[in-house]
Amino acid sequence: MSANINPLANPKGANKVCELCEKPAYIQCTKCFVTFYCGREHQNDDWVAIHKKVCQLLIPVRTPVPYYTLEVEREHHCSQILQRQTQLMEISQTVAEKKLFEKRHKESLPAALLSLRSAMDVFGTSAIQLVPAYLLLAEANIGLGNLSPAEQYLSWAEWTVVRTPECSQTVCQKLHRCMGRLFIVKGNLEEALFHLANDIYYASEEYGQDSIVTCGGYFLMADIFSKQGKMDIVNSLYKEVAKTWHSHLSTLLERHIQNTITPEESFDEAQQAEADQMLRSMLEPVKALEFGKRALLSSRLVPDCNLTEPVQRLLQLAEEDLNAANESWPELPPCSSAHTEHQLSMKVSQR
Ligand SMILES: [Zn+2]
Ligand SMILES: [Zn+2]
Repeated sequence: MSANINPLANPKGANKVCELCEKPAYIQCTKCFVTFYCGREHQNDDWVAIHKKVCQLLIPVRTPVPYYTLEVEREHHCSQILQRQTQLMEISQTVAEKKLFEKRHKESLPAALLSLRSAMDVFGTSAIQLVPAYLLLAEANIGLGNLSPAEQYLSWAEWTVVRTPECSQTVCQKLHRCMGRLFIVKGNLEEALFHLANDIYYASEEYGQDSIVTCGGYFLMADIFSKQGKMDIVNSLYKEVAKTWHSHLSTLLERHIQNTITPEESFDEAQQAEADQMLRSMLEPVKALEFGKRALLSSRLVPDCNLTEPVQRLLQLAEEDLNAANESWPELPPCSSAHTEHQLSMKVSQR
C-alpha cells in the first residue's frame, strides 16, 4: 500500500509533504500515487480515518491538468474537478462529524483537515464556507484536550463570521455551540452558558423551538447544570430533549412505514451517531439498568408481550456501557435500534 520516496530526488519546487503533519514525505500511497506521508504511522492514521474512502477520488483532483488546446475542453475539465472537490469536501465533512459524535476525536482530525483543504480548493482561503471545517477541527482538538489549536481554529472561524455580514444563522449557531463546548472544557461554565443560549436562539430561529438541532443545545446545557449540581433543571431539560427526539423519530418511523420519506429527511451517518450519543447519555447506564430490569419484570407479566426481547436488548446494552472501560464507543447500531430503545424508554417511563 506504500512505496518509499526520497525527498531529495523531487524536482525543485515540488517537495512532497506529509498529508497529516506537512513534514517532508518519505512514502506514498500506492493505490492513488498522489498522497504522501512522513512515515507508516501517519499513513495508517489517515487510511483508517478517511483516506480509504477518498483514495480514488483524489487522483483526478491532484493530477496535473493535461494540456487542452480547446477552451471548451479546459472549461469542461475545470468543472469536473470542481465537482470532485465538492464531493471530497462533503464526504470528509460527514465522516469527521460522525467520528466526533462517536467520540473518536483522533480519527476525526484527518477527515476534518481534508474537509478544510477541499473547502479552500472550492471556495478560496477566506470564504465563509470554511467555517464548518474550522469548527470540526476545533471540536476534534477540544476532544483531544489540545485547547490551544482548538482556540486558534475557533478564532479563525469567529473572524470569518464577523467579516461576513450575510453569514447564515446556521453558521452562527454552529460557532456558538462549539464555543460553548470549549468553555465547558475550560471550566468557564458561565461563558459556556452564554454561548449555548446564543446557540439555542439561532437554532430555534432557523429550525424551530422543537427541532432536534435546537435540543442539541439544551442537551449541552443539561451537562453544565449537572456539573453545577442543579439536577432539577437537568431532568427537565432531558425530558424536553427526549420529547423532541421521540416526536421526531416517531414521525420518521411513520413516514418510513408509509414509504413517504424523502432522502433529505432520512438520517446521514453523522445524525445517526448524534442521536445514538444523546439517547445513550440520557439512558445513563445505572438508571437504564434499573428501569430495564423493572420493565423486563412487567413485560413478563403481560401475556404475549412482544416487549421482552427489546427490553433484554436494552439491558444488555446498558450492561455493556457499564463495562466499557475506554472512551471509544461500541459499533453504532442502526438508527432503528436507537429508535426502539428510545420508544421503549418513553413507554416505560409513562407507566
Ligand atoms: Zn506526518
Ligand atoms: Zn491513496
